[in-house]
Parts: sequence; C-alpha cells; structure tokens
Amino acid sequence: MDKPSFHAEETPVLQIRDLHKAYGELEVIKGVDIVAHRGEVVSLIGSSGSGKSTILRCANLLEDSQQGDILFKGEPVRWKGGGHGRMPGDPKQVLRIRTNLSMVFQQFNLWAHMTILQNVMEAPLTVLGRDRAEVEASARKYLDKVGIGDKCDAYPAQLSGGQQQRAAIARALCMEPEALLFDEPTSALDPELEQEVVRVIKDLAAEGRTMLIVTHDMKMAADVSDHVVFLHQGLIEEQGAPDRLFGAPNSERLRGFLSATQ
Ligand code: ADP
Ligand code: MG
Repeated sequence: MDKPSFHAEETPVLQIRDLHKAYGELEVIKGVDIVAHRGEVVSLIGSSGSGKSTILRCANLLEDSQQGDILFKGEPVRWKGGGHGRMPGDPKQVLRIRTNLSMVFQQFNLWAHMTILQNVMEAPLTVLGRDRAEVEASARKYLDKVGIGDKCDAYPAQLSGGQQQRAAIARALCMEPEALLFDEPTSALDPELEQEVVRVIKDLAAEGRTMLIVTHDMKMAADVSDHVVFLHQGLIEEQGAPDRLFGAPNSERLRGFLSATQ
C-alpha cells in the first residue's frame, strides 16, 4: 500500500511490555509485548477469547492488571495498588493518555439522545474543555471526512450501522488523539455496510495515522497493517509483516485460524 512509512526511530506512541492480566483466577493475558510507532498500523487477530479486547482495554487504561508496563510516548503508566489488581493510579495521567488513545467500539456506543454533531462535540467540550466554535468546526470537518457531513442533525437511530460507526470514528478523531484503537469496528455490520467503514479505516491508514486494530477481517488487516499480531490464549503465537504472516504463516495454529476464516 502506498503510505508514508512509520517512524521506527522515534520513541513509540504506545508500548506494552510483558503485560499480565487476570480476571479473578483466570489469567487471560500471559506476558504480551506490543509496540506501535507513530504512523504505524498494528492489527491484532486471533480466535474469540484469545485476549484481543482485553489488550485494547488495558492500553486504554480501563482495566487493572498484575504485571508489566504500559508506556505512552515513553512515559510509563503509574500504578496504584499491589500485584494482584493494580490500577492506573494517577487520574491526570489516565485522562491524558486515554484522550490520546481514542477508542472505537464494535457497538459504536453513540449517545442516543444526542444528535450526531453533539455526539462528536461532547468529549472535546466536556473532557478537554475546548472552545465550542472551534470544536464545532472540527466536528463538521471530521463528519465530512467520513462521508456523513449531511447527518449532523440526525440522531443515531436514524442512521445505518455503517453511518453510526463512521460517526463514532469522527468522534474519536475529534479528540485529536495520538492514536486510534479499534475493537472489531466492522463486526456488528452487514457485509455491504462493512466496506464503507473499511474504506474510512484505509483512508486513515493512508494518511499515516497510528492505529491498533482488533479485527476479524483478514483482508482489511492485510491491506492496512504494517504489522500483524496473532494471539492465542493470551500469548503472541506469531507476528510479522502482513505479507509474510498471511502468505507464509509458520505456526500450525495460525494456519488453522487462517483457513477457518477464509
Ligand atoms: P477477544 O476479544 O479476543 O475475543 P477477550 O479479551 O474479550 O477476547 O477475552 C479474553 C478472555 O477473558 C476470555 O476468556 C474471556 O472470557 C475473558 N473475559 C473477558 N472479559 C471478562 C470479564 N469482564 N470477566 C471475566 N472474564 C472475562
Ligand atoms: Mg473482543
């Protein structure tokens, strides 16, 4: 794909090192390392239950964990509490990191009682305290960019799933984040609507956005990623450049997974 190469010489935007995470007694992330440099697109693939969403939620500082480091632009997350269930402990740091790693969810999570424009403007206004006129201009710009500039005054229920997900992407962009985190952004959509969201994600990749994308869409992962990580039961089973990983997978499990998702 024709896109600027990422900035591998710089301190990465996001580094996850040796992350361990349990739900009660069940260890679901067993020592995972993930790096996303500025401009890099990293995709996480793997069977249901392999830990993909948990990793994104940990990166967004929504979960406790037991061990390992998470660094945003080289700055380690400061933890509070002991080994079994430490949480990110500095509210200012959490806010700063979370607003810089803007998340897009499978189920869009738009506010039903707000118009599309209000949905996009809400967090920049209330969380970041930015100027209303400036936020509105930027919200309209991002809604245009994802192709739904004419839906500003509609409510989420009046939009198709594909349009709602594009509104959710505009909302994430309006935070002006350093990186975008996508959790299965197309899996709640009918196949014909999936493509309009894939198109937007491809455009974002082509303009050099830093993204961590959990997806079941192997074609999209192959098209947009610089690096693909295959997870199995909370561990990285195999990773590499998409051409190599999809074209010549080493692990038997990855071969099985890929043939099952054809
Ligand atoms: P994926 O996104 O790859 O499908 P998840 O990260 O959602 O996987 O889940 C990884 C494992 O953690 C699964 O075994 C799942 O059942 C378990 N899990 C996820 N969320 C919770 C939770 N809130 N409480 C207990 N177990 C959970
Ligand atoms: Mg998931």
